[in-house]
Parts: sequence; structure tokens; C-alpha cells
Amino acid sequence: MKKSEPYQKKISTCHLCKQCWYDAKCSKHCPECGGYAMDRPCVVCGGQCHQTWRRNIAKTHSFHKAHWDGKCDLPLDVQQALMQASDSDISEQSISHGLQCLSTT
Ligand SMILES: [Zn+2]
Ligand SMILES: [Zn+2]
Repeated sequence: MKKSEPYQKKISTCHLCKQCWYDAKCSKHCPECGGYAMDRPCVVCGGQCHQTWRRNIAKTHSFHKAHWDGKCDLPLDVQQALMQASDSDISEQSISHGLQCLSTT
């Protein structure tokens, strides 16, 4: 069964900024858009492997954060190194955020 285009547009619209990914629109700094519309270059390596990942619309909406389905083509050890690099970025951000919270109370 093929779903109608109005339905596709309705579910493929960002809840936060109301851009329609189905029309290839998105916001750069919106967490739900993630800076891309329906698909984007590989999340793991930033597109070095030339794979395209598709937006997981259901997860994107339920987490209010862009979610992507896909697979990186680079060797596993390279992928792990890249993921570790981005993990440490995130923990540094949360540490400095925690310190800010402490200093305001
Ligand atoms: Zn958005
Ligand atoms: Zn990749």
C-alpha cells in the first residue's frame, strides 16, 4: 500500500521549526532537523565513505533530535576511532555545562 503524498509531507515535517523535510527543507541549527532534510552523508565519518543515511522519522519525532538509519563503509577500527572522538566532545560539553549549573546556584 502506497501512502499519499499529503500524509508523507505531514509526517516528514519538523515539529520544532515546521520545515518540511519532504520538500528538501531544513534548519541548520534545529536539533530535530540536524541540518539536513530526508537524507544526509554518513553520520560516523561525515560522508568520507560516500554512504547516504536516511532520516528515521519516527525516532526523530519521539526524541526531538535527528535520527538517521545507515551504515558506514569505512573499516571498523576507523569508525571506532571516529566515534570515540565525537564521544569525548559530548562529555566535555556536559562537564562544562555541569560546572555552569554549579556556579549559578
Ligand atoms: Zn527543525
Ligand atoms: Zn561512513
